[in-house]
Amino acid sequence: MKPVILYIDDELENLESFRLAFRNHYDIELASSTLIAEKILKEKEVALVIADHKMPSETGLAFIKRIKSQYPLTTYILLTAYSELELVINAINVGIDGYIQKPWLHNEMSFAIENAVEKYELKKQNIALVVTLKKRNEQLKQFNSQITSNSTKLLKSQSELSKREKLLAAIYKNLPIAVVIVDENTRIITVNHTGRNLAGTTENEIIGQLFGKAFHCSYMKDSMECTDKARETCIIRSAVKHSIEHKTDNFKTEGQLPFNLNGSTINKIISLSATYLEQEQPMVLLSFDEITQQRKNETQLLIQNKKLESINSKLESAIIKSKESDMLKSGIIANISHEIRTPMNGIIGFSEMLMKPSIPDEKKEIYLNIIRESSFRLLRIVNDILDISKIETDNLDIINESFCVNSLIMEMQLLFIHKATKKNIELIPHKDLQDNESVIISDRLRLVQILNNLLENAFKFTEKGKIEYGYLLKNDFLEFYIADNGIGIAEEQQNKVFEGFYQVQMNNNRKFAGIGVGLSISQKLVELLGGKIWLKSFEGKGSTFYFTIPYNKSQ
Ligand code: ADP
Repeated sequence: MKPVILYIDDELENLESFRLAFRNHYDIELASSTLIAEKILKEKEVALVIADHKMPSETGLAFIKRIKSQYPLTTYILLTAYSELELVINAINVGIDGYIQKPWLHNEMSFAIENAVEKYELKKQNIALVVTLKKRNEQLKQFNSQITSNSTKLLKSQSELSKREKLLAAIYKNLPIAVVIVDENTRIITVNHTGRNLAGTTENEIIGQLFGKAFHCSYMKDSMECTDKARETCIIRSAVKHSIEHKTDNFKTEGQLPFNLNGSTINKIISLSATYLEQEQPMVLLSFDEITQQRKNETQLLIQNKKLESINSKLESAIIKSKESDMLKSGIIANISHEIRTPMNGIIGFSEMLMKPSIPDEKKEIYLNIIRESSFRLLRIVNDILDISKIETDNLDIINESFCVNSLIMEMQLLFIHKATKKNIELIPHKDLQDNESVIISDRLRLVQILNNLLENAFKFTEKGKIEYGYLLKNDFLEFYIADNGIGIAEEQQNKVFEGFYQVQMNNNRKFAGIGVGLSISQKLVELLGGKIWLKSFEGKGSTFYFTIPYNKSQ
């Protein structure tokens, strides 16, 4: 791009001759007045303004003076008349870049233009340089401030680091657990206060020693090296090995260390944690704490817990039992009331009937029989309840006498044959001894009571078939049995039927009369007579009750 030269002159032929002279080298703009020149300056970047001084509207110098500060890069040449020396001085003061006297010579003009354009280029370059320099300066300033802030930060973090270091050192020193840093062979590099106390030595003595030696491992009593056994079993060694191999930063383990205390070995349980330290040589930070007592306490706690659990479960089952027994009691009372009310109603009802006049004799007999039966039933209940209360207060007396067991068997036959015939059940007695051999000393009435209870039950729970009863002599004992082929007793109920007031059918719709104390009384009586009672039964097939009494033969 050619530099732009603006030539101002009110004489048009001057303008034209200038254009012709310099158009090849420069981009020429011509203005016949300063007004036109000003317009061009606004539109284009002009390297040089050449203005004629003597112009009618505004002189060239006045124009340059006016616009110079607006276009400081542009250079200015004033065209003057030959004798205007004062004007030239004035113009130089204004800061023009050259002046040429009119009429100008081509060479002179060309030289002046070259100088002015060069000056313009230099000014331009200068300005660009100044801008770059300013920019550079700005960058340097920024850089400088960054460095300052970085160094402040560095200083701050350095002081924080040293604070932290101090803190860590204090923690390390005062930790209540032992901390030891060892190399791969378990040689001690450093140890904290608690560790030194545990080893019972000073820091100088402990550094460089094998861990086992410093901490009195009983495997190392006299030797300076770990024994093979120690190498295999030592938890310190295996923790160090593991940490280095896996570069783990938190390996935890627990185990025994055999300490040599005054010649004897004490196994201490320790909880150990190992951390691999990344240094020039492999190092492991070991921290450990003795937890022997803790473990002992835990074991004791566990035992205590077990005991408490068992007490708890006993309490729970006692509560359940007491609840059950509450329910049982209410059931028992309801049952007893029912068992008393039934014969009572019979007695009252049929005695009222008897009071009516003109009842035929045969009916009277039936009614009287019912009243009699009901009274016996009542009497039995009352006797049973009395017996039970005597048993509970240990007031049941045994009155021994001499009697013939065979006769007693036949008495029972007479007593029950009527019932057997009525229910169409075969009743078969059995006697094992000769009559004279069967005379014994025992409580006859109680024996009758037992047999009576068991036969009553056999009849009650048997609908058809047969009931066999009798005794055998076995090992100085008379073993009685009462066998029926009635409803039988389920296996899980068999050990409960001897409990007071227990009835297998107690929860079902009760079909069988009774208050559930017959077997419990019988058991107590058998025991008082010196024997024992048991049963064999199959549900749906029948039951056999056995009991023994000593064969105290009467002399
Ligand atoms: P009770 O006969 O008055 O109910 P017991 O103490 O004599 O009371 O008997 C307790 C329970 O044992 C009976 O209710 C019955 O469920 C069962 N039992 C006793 N003897 C027999 C038997 N021979 N056959 C079947 N169940 C029997």
